[in-house]
Amino acid sequence: MNKVILQPSGNKDAREHFLDTIETNVNLTRIGPHISVNDFQVLQDIYPSGSCKVWGVTPGGSNQTKWSRIETGDITLFSREGSIYASAVTTYKLHCHSLAAELWNYNADGQTWEYIYFLDELRGLSISYATFNDAVGYKPSYIIQGFSVLDASKSAAVIQAFDLQSSVFYADISKDECLEAISYLTSLNETEAEIQSSRRLEQGYLQKHLFGRKTVGTCAGCNRDYPVSFLVTAHIKRRSQCTLEERIDHHVVMPLCSMGCDQMFEKGYVSVLDGVYVDMKKTPSSHHLQKCIDQLAGKLCTYYNDATRPYFEWHYDYSR
Ligand SMILES: [Zn+2]
Repeated sequence: MNKVILQPSGNKDAREHFLDTIETNVNLTRIGPHISVNDFQVLQDIYPSGSCKVWGVTPGGSNQTKWSRIETGDITLFSREGSIYASAVTTYKLHCHSLAAELWNYNADGQTWEYIYFLDELRGLSISYATFNDAVGYKPSYIIQGFSVLDASKSAAVIQAFDLQSSVFYADISKDECLEAISYLTSLNETEAEIQSSRRLEQGYLQKHLFGRKTVGTCAGCNRDYPVSFLVTAHIKRRSQCTLEERIDHHVVMPLCSMGCDQMFEKGYVSVLDGVYVDMKKTPSSHHLQKCIDQLAGKLCTYYNDATRPYFEWHYDYSR
């Protein structure tokens, strides 16, 4: 489950950092010399534009323990002067003293902000502490003090209240962890919130398989590149018809763009037969829809293989 990170940023250092490395993007070439080749490759996948947003905390107090709990997909809330003024989604983290010194220099105690995390999807907000306290269940007079990470239930309440969930960045989760969590959630008398959590776990797991950490991907229909938020993790076999095992088989999905390919496939206007997209001649149709179908029909589907074939056969029979 994604967590909420509270990041008060009212003091001079924090204000400067927000301006210098959040509002202003940092070029990856400035970061590269300080980190491993592997970490640099990951950042290039996350930030194909070549620049990123980055934040860090000092080793003081229990900061290191709190930072170790941060995961991809966690939401940071920046606050000062009685309100939360921005949110951003965690994309990656690493510990690096020299990079922190390069980006932010040192504070008066000779420390630097070496527990680093990278962010994206920056959003301006205006949430008063009173409104926040009400959502999270704190006393009305509570004031956010110091860097902290909220527990699961408080995080869920805040994310839901202010609609902060990312559709691009999900927590890293193994197949076993995913299966275990979904089985557990399914065993409960499912409430709407639990059904949503279960779907999000699955979605995150399958999306990681399709795109890794990349934020731009290719549609399996039209073969055009789009940001991942425009690519649906489309079920070849309808999710509602899948067994629990099939639901987390990564062969059951392929990326289809929300510019049309996903809808044509989802509604059964096109399907795949022997690895080739086919027009299913569904009605009602229209001149403009037919043009879109014609662009797809006859093309090879690159996601068709021995493992995905049974799912495509299901889709073809279902769409006939
Ligand atoms: Zn497409």
